[in-house]
Amino acid sequence: MAQGGRAARREELEARARECGYQSLEHLIRATAAWPAADVVALVKREPEQLTERFTRHWREVFNVTGARRGGQARAALDTKARECGYKNLEQLIRRTAAWPIAEVAALTGKTDSWVEHWRSAFSVTSTRHAAQAARRARTQTAGLKSLAAGEQPVGPDGKLRCRVCGVWRDLLDQHALRAHGLTVLEYRRRFGLANTVLLCNEAVWQGRDTDGWRPRYDRRAQAHGYIDAADVLARCTDEQAAAVLEVTVRTIKARRATPAPRAATGASRAPRQSG
Ligand SMILES: [Zn+2]
Repeated sequence: MAQGGRAARREELEARARECGYQSLEHLIRATAAWPAADVVALVKREPEQLTERFTRHWREVFNVTGARRGGQARAALDTKARECGYKNLEQLIRRTAAWPIAEVAALTGKTDSWVEHWRSAFSVTSTRHAAQAARRARTQTAGLKSLAAGEQPVGPDGKLRCRVCGVWRDLLDQHALRAHGLTVLEYRRRFGLANTVLLCNEAVWQGRDTDGWRPRYDRRAQAHGYIDAADVLARCTDEQAAAVLEVTVRTIKARRATPAPRAATGASRAPRQSG
């Protein structure tokens, strides 16, 4: 009975430690080694529980934490500083701000960039200066994306299209969506409510790409749906069905039908250029 009660109590304390931003009770007790015992009690205590400084002393003893080590005072001051910033302790501050640019964390804490980097490293927070810059870039890059309506696909004056997932501008948005986000043209259209008539690549660039690389790519898509090749799809499907299979617009299908097939592309025996 007493045994079970103790185990349950320990479980509860472990859960509290995690709530406070520590991996475990031991982690909490060690990290707060330099704090006044009453401060640890204040951190862990839940109203209306009666918890005294004996709690701190008990667990310091259990984990063989001697308290007030060299450097402990400085660390305690940092935890205090973190609390002033609205966090429970330094570690929580460092973890919660992992995606921030380093300069912003430095500004928040009144410390230097290398101080922030030191503590990120100490807590194994993986955001490096480089990653922080990438995060800032990503924020700029995605600005305004959320306010786009369904069915809207931004096109720049140079004909580039803006990716509605990550905000980059690309000539070949369909290729980008697949490579960067694993979205086929159909999935991209569905996600953003785009009509099949919306072209997902720079129209000017499309011409150049189309004459050269479209056929093997379309053949592979056709074969994935059980057709012999793209020509087979065009021969046997309506414009809408062909557009769905080849993952292009109906307009493209109509243009394809209107364009005479290249001399090598007749007949079903022709093997796809990029097979094997
Ligand atoms: Zn993207």
